[in-house]
Amino acid sequence: MSHSISIIGSGPAGWTAAVYAARANLKPVVFEGAVTEENQLKNTLPMGQLAMTTEVENFPGFPAGDLTEYLKSAIDPERLDYLPPHGKHGITGPELVELIRQQAVNFGTEIVSDDVVKIDVSRSPDGPFVLHTLENGTFESDAVIVATGASANWLGLASEERFKNQGVSACAVCDGALPRFRNHPVAVVGGGDSALEDANYLSQFASKVYVIHRRDEFRASKFMVKRTLENPKVEVLYSRVVSEVLGTPNEGVQGVLLASTKGEEPLQIEVSGLFVLIGHTPNTGFLEGTVELTEKKYVRWTQPGRTFTSVPGIFAAGDCADSIYRQANTAAASGCMAALDAERWLAAR
Ligand code: NAP
Repeated sequence: MSHSISIIGSGPAGWTAAVYAARANLKPVVFEGAVTEENQLKNTLPMGQLAMTTEVENFPGFPAGDLTEYLKSAIDPERLDYLPPHGKHGITGPELVELIRQQAVNFGTEIVSDDVVKIDVSRSPDGPFVLHTLENGTFESDAVIVATGASANWLGLASEERFKNQGVSACAVCDGALPRFRNHPVAVVGGGDSALEDANYLSQFASKVYVIHRRDEFRASKFMVKRTLENPKVEVLYSRVVSEVLGTPNEGVQGVLLASTKGEEPLQIEVSGLFVLIGHTPNTGFLEGTVELTEKKYVRWTQPGRTFTSVPGIFAAGDCADSIYRQANTAAASGCMAALDAERWLAAR
């Protein structure tokens, strides 16, 4: 099958690129990703990181309000079933990304629910790129926008690995309401916005939330730090790192052992869950040897303020190329830029 433009990834960057490409009559196809166990463990399921967040309070145009009727009228009823009921608060990440997807669908975007595992560039610049998918699909495309986002980092402890899905998680929104965490203490590792946002989210369900941070100063925004420090259910353990996750095969996580980064005695705390929220790695493994990546494996944008990559005809948008801003806003904006860059590149050819 041949397309003029293929978009790989289904977060705000990918869907926004699709909205623009579809409105330019380029009939884009979006490879939204596959639902597999491996993707679930790696947190690379369709709809990306935004689908794993709670309220999004800083996306322009969505102040807190009761969006129930609007969501019902805007989103395909079958897809609406995936979303929990709304109520009067800010838009949620899953709702926001679903709305952008719907917008792309409304303008005629084709969707393939599969992962692209390789882009064959051997026929460019004269021939199309060939995209190979996990389910052995082959698609030709004149231009490609890579918008595959980033996924959660892990601590790398053997005990962390052992207790994944048994109390160790990298997604509070996906797992926080599970019975094993309700009315029990849980711990969150990290000092960025994700860790503090999720600590506040978890405090709805858990009896207590420990925030374990390796330094004595947070990386998160001042607003998020203030909210966290004012939350009576949150206790911050500064200058601590997790040295071991404790538990049994039957019971799962029962506690964590914490080393001090300031030479203090180790500390053991009882928790039924450990949420690891220590940053992200760009989902660019499938691009190795195809487009140039940075030292930290982000796609390298080759011109300031543009979305060009080292391969003419392949563009990049969102967190797979952005190591600095990494916001839903900036991802959507760079998706728009990539679609405009691709449209002009195709027209010039
Ligand atoms: P981040 O800002 O990179 O923060 C990662 C945190 O994890 C840092 O505090 C870091 O410690 C800690 N960390 C890293 N590796 C560690 C390790 N091996 N052991 C222990 N701690 C470790 O990542 P993020 O919180 O996921 O945020 C990513 C981006 O998304 C940011 O730009 C953030 O502003 C944005 N975001 C925004 C919102 C919002 O606006 N509502 C919500 C979530 C995320 P150090 O501080 O010591 O390096």
